[in-house]
Amino acid sequence: TTYRVQAAWVEFAGKAGVLVSFEDVTPMERAGQMRRDFVANVSHELRTPLTAMMGFIETLQGPARGDTAASDRFLATMYSEANRMERLVRDLLALSRVESEERVRPNQTVDLAGLVRSVAHTLRPLLENSEVTLDLELPQSDTELPGDADQLRQVVTNLIENAVKYGGKGKTVTVTLSHAENDPMLRRDALLLSVRDEGPGISEIHIPRLTERFYRVDSHRSREMGGTGLGLAIVKHIVSRHRGRLRIESELGQGSVFRVILPR
Ligand code: ADP
Repeated sequence: TTYRVQAAWVEFAGKAGVLVSFEDVTPMERAGQMRRDFVANVSHELRTPLTAMMGFIETLQGPARGDTAASDRFLATMYSEANRMERLVRDLLALSRVESEERVRPNQTVDLAGLVRSVAHTLRPLLENSEVTLDLELPQSDTELPGDADQLRQVVTNLIENAVKYGGKGKTVTVTLSHAENDPMLRRDALLLSVRDEGPGISEIHIPRLTERFYRVDSHRSREMGGTGLGLAIVKHIVSRHRGRLRIESELGQGSVFRVILPR
């Protein structure tokens, strides 16, 4: 805990004395530290692909000049590095948008089952590449809720993409949507979305930190998979903007379940 201590000489009602005040400035210090960490993280994440690209450009200008086979290879790598930067900037913008809108109540009506089906359709190439079977267990009706369609689409997309990426090749990802009448946590009617994978699972010590920006269990694996480390931070903000809850459960060797509870 950090205190700011101030002392002043005061005179009041004919008496004089020293007034000492203690102010707990820990939250401000912590916010300042978080901001500095965030800027350092963003700089590092942007700098890594940038440095790699500059190295390739220098090689193309020098030793590899005129070597078409090498330049084709280098251009392909540079394209994927540029792609990584583009994804990072896109996720940073998405995060800053949801953070700044956190207090505004979303006002569209969204059909969550339809949205899940549409995301599943968009993710077909990813599913085919990773040979993952996507099982959808969706109710036939009554799956509307007040929300922001683009943002809820992002929640569903991020959770399914993670389940496919970390679940592993050839496995099954199950998405379930159900009604929760008078949900005990939200104390009102809710929709419960769950995304389950059959991956290696996540150790208990990591679970509370997964929604921190840039927190990764295995950064090498995340980068290799094209991750930015911001996906779950974005999910958490969107869910809280919809006054919902995110619950993560996982068992090593069994898989993970990401549950989102959204009020209706
Ligand atoms: P990333 O872009 O790295 O995927 P996320 O914020 O989406 O970032 O996820 C943070 C970290 O949580 C990931 O790097 C990964 O280590 C872990 N993670 C997320 N989803 C899963 C999952 N379904 N199974 C195992 N680990 C996961």
